[in-house]
Amino acid sequence: MNNPEISFSKAAHWYFSQNYRYGTWDGEDCARDNEWSGFGFVLGSGGDPLPIPGDYLTGHQCSHMVDVSNGQAAMRLMEEAAPRKTAEWNGLLAYDYGDSAAREAADRIGDSLAGYPLLDDEDFYERERENAARVLVDSYDVPEDIAADVVSALSDDGQTLCTDCHSWDIDRIMSNLGYRECAECDKWLATTFDEPLHYDCAECYAEDDCECISVMVDGYRHGNHTVTMSDVRETLRGCEHCYPLVYPYGKNVA
Ligand SMILES: [Zn+2]
Ligand SMILES: [Zn+2]
Ligand SMILES: [Zn+2]
Ligand SMILES: [Zn+2]
Repeated sequence: MNNPEISFSKAAHWYFSQNYRYGTWDGEDCARDNEWSGFGFVLGSGGDPLPIPGDYLTGHQCSHMVDVSNGQAAMRLMEEAAPRKTAEWNGLLAYDYGDSAAREAADRIGDSLAGYPLLDDEDFYERERENAARVLVDSYDVPEDIAADVVSALSDDGQTLCTDCHSWDIDRIMSNLGYRECAECDKWLATTFDEPLHYDCAECYAEDDCECISVMVDGYRHGNHTVTMSDVRETLRGCEHCYPLVYPYGKNVA
């Protein structure tokens, strides 16, 4: 016989017996490609093969983050215990079941996950915070330089860091950090004033054929002051040309 027999772990036997897509020969191929004498799966918390997720997010961010963290930690632990005896196989973590050091490391990982959901708490919390910061920037328009502060404030506030579980209420946090929503475009502005406006957003309130708003905005811009909705209202009320157009029922009606 040219090909020595490849030994399979119990979990690998079971996996191939109930999988319609892959058979034991696929496991044998993997083992031979890697010059292994056996084929087994590192097992996760439920006793199923430990997934090695790709970048594509499936399910909740929180559970995806657990899978990513555990997958990375397991690969690291396996590589330390038995170099080149572990490989990603179709999104699962496979190893050389014929190698005793690899087998023992895989057993330790499986036992550990059966008792506690995370292999490396610190790694998981770091990923969770990084992901939360990314969601804040992408979906909550939070400026990148304060995203980490908002994540800390969310944790201090007792809000979960998974927006799939719970959507965030960040108005108060942003206000504590010195940010308010622009009254026109709802994006964050670094200011403590109520109803602030971006300079360009304030310009939207200019009437045709009148410079009053542009002149006011220009002055604030040069002085680096925040324009607010009330500045806009006052300017329009104080303008001979604009107030009859904007406030046809009188100056004192908002
Ligand atoms: Zn979640
Ligand atoms: Zn704006
Ligand atoms: Zn100017
Ligand atoms: Zn005007």
